[in-house]
Amino acid sequence: MIPTISQERLTQVFLELIAVSSESLDERKAADLLTQKLHELGFSVVEDKAGEKLGGNAGNLYGFLKGTIPGEPLLFSAHMDTVKPGRNKKPILHEDGIFTSDGTTVLGADDAAGLAEILEGIRSVRESGLPHRDIEILFPVAEEIYIQGSGVFDFSRIRAKEAYVLDMSGEVGSAAVRAPSLISFRVTVNGRASHAGFAPEKGVHAIAAAAEAIVHIPQGQADEETTCNIGTITGGTAKNIVPEQCVCIGEVRSFSHEKALQWIEIINRAFADAAERFGASFEMETQEVLRTYRVPDNAPVVSRFQRACAALGLSGTLRSTFGGSDNHNYLNAGISGIVISCGMQCVHSTEENISIPELMNGAALVAQLIQDE
Ligand SMILES: [Zn+2]
Repeated sequence: MIPTISQERLTQVFLELIAVSSESLDERKAADLLTQKLHELGFSVVEDKAGEKLGGNAGNLYGFLKGTIPGEPLLFSAHMDTVKPGRNKKPILHEDGIFTSDGTTVLGADDAAGLAEILEGIRSVRESGLPHRDIEILFPVAEEIYIQGSGVFDFSRIRAKEAYVLDMSGEVGSAAVRAPSLISFRVTVNGRASHAGFAPEKGVHAIAAAAEAIVHIPQGQADEETTCNIGTITGGTAKNIVPEQCVCIGEVRSFSHEKALQWIEIINRAFADAAERFGASFEMETQEVLRTYRVPDNAPVVSRFQRACAALGLSGTLRSTFGGSDNHNYLNAGISGIVISCGMQCVHSTEENISIPELMNGAALVAQLIQDE
């Protein structure tokens, strides 16, 4: 059954969430507002200590609501933080039904759209007196800074086996079932300082050695499922000194974890060869930020999503994303999750926008999912 989604209430909650400044690690006001909204819906709510652990002012919000349809709960997730510039957001509703910011900040539909759609989807079903499953929600902090909030969440609390993460751009009705590994690296090349005019031959040029390595590293698409990028390079102290040190920071992303590791090895070798040629030394630190996943097309979480889309006349398209989300942490914790579009566009920019019909579709999709047996 399709309950009545209240456009007025949905847009009002969306605007209330947008009005709150909640850049990463400053989610206090958003957490308080959402706790109140969840209590109104009948959820029991627990806030964890993620704020203390990460240096923020709020924890992840976990909520549970008892349902009437038997079976494990379904987990719905959307993150509470926004990217910068996200303070004092002033949303504008245009005549064509599209929300934007005033151009000086992001809109914050990422991820207020997901939050508002989850709340209205559940509320509409409750108000219509329709049966629904047990529902768990997780609203993490610090998603935008390498999914750190959900990274410190205690997943032993979660009973759901399926997660729906409302945190993807594009039309409601599509879902990402595959996401990459991401390994970041930091290479420090150590040469020897010397006066550039009087005794250049006594120096070892760390920047030149790094440059020699970098020309042997593909930038951009490295193979059909992998990208490499050296993102910053810093080094040297003055124009008349042979630079002693050069630091290069970058990342490798791949749908194959093995390939990501292989490219890290190739990068390591490029620096090793260049360092040797120049008489420099180097060290390379790496960090596994994300681990690739692929949810099978016939997994229950996918079938349920596609059934719900079909009932609402939405496409139910499955695709890949090359970005990270809290879903990486859910998969790591053994929860079969997919990332679903909540209608936002041009996220992480001041052009960010979303339309009222897309918000309505997102809420309807949540309402449909929680009624699925
Ligand atoms: Zn997001």
